Amino acid sequence: MVQLIHKRFKSPIFIENQIRFIPILLPIVSFVLCVVVFFLDEIKQISNELLFWLPFILIQIIIAMTCGLLIKEYYYGAHKDVLTGLYNRRYLNGKLLEELSHVGQTHSELSLILIDIDNFKKVNDTHGHLMGDIVLKKIGEILRSDSRHIDIAARWGGEEFAVILPETALNYSYKFAERIRKEVEDCDFGFKVTISLGVVSTYNEVSLDELLTQVDQALYLAKEKKNIVVAYPKLGYPV
Ligand code: GH3
Ligand code: MG
Ligand code: MG
Repeated sequence: MVQLIHKRFKSPIFIENQIRFIPILLPIVSFVLCVVVFFLDEIKQISNELLFWLPFILIQIIIAMTCGLLIKEYYYGAHKDVLTGLYNRRYLNGKLLEELSHVGQTHSELSLILIDIDNFKKVNDTHGHLMGDIVLKKIGEILRSDSRHIDIAARWGGEEFAVILPETALNYSYKFAERIRKEVEDCDFGFKVTISLGVVSTYNEVSLDELLTQVDQALYLAKEKKNIVVAYPKLGYPV
């Protein structure tokens, strides 16, 4: 139990959840401190003292809010992809390790989807890199809007994306992947863009390498035909 609590407090997700409250918490704490000092210092001349302390309180609040926003921006910046606004690979790796350990404890099902844009080099070569960036952003938007709040959608790198679906069975992840594939296919860029997707799920705590190798193999199979989803029901047992 103690170990579990310790683990939870050390996890990047726990820190992230808490750090987002800093812009609110710092001003509240500094305000409360000012009020406490104010009353401890001189209780009798409240109106004069209030006038004296008010500028300090305001400055404290402004400084604290600025610091909080800077910390928040810096923290999220380190975990986000600049182009799409999705999480980056570094964050995804950390989150995957955490989710795998959760699977080890609860034996709930964890799914992972790996996505690769088909013939993306041709999109860049034919329509230019700016258009290529627009396609990447649009796919990022689709992933973000279709994901549930517990899912983690990330840019894996280049023209590849990944989505972690915690506590999710393979049949749901497969349907989700198929929906994404269809939405991208239906997008009107003035030309057609398709994606290939590999899906894998596990009930057991496997290594990160094992999970990634398996989802990579599923994607590899999907790339043989392109514009399809290939899923593994369980690690090591292809459909
Ligand atoms: P396949 O169907 O086999 O996946 O072929 P592909 O052309 O999609 O794959 P390939 O690896 O040959 O090319 C990937 C291209 O993605 C090459 C690279 O210039 C482009 N790319 C990677 N990152 C970015 C980016 O941030 N913006 C743009 N516009 N292009 C990018
Ligand atoms: Mg690729
Ligand atoms: Mg590609």
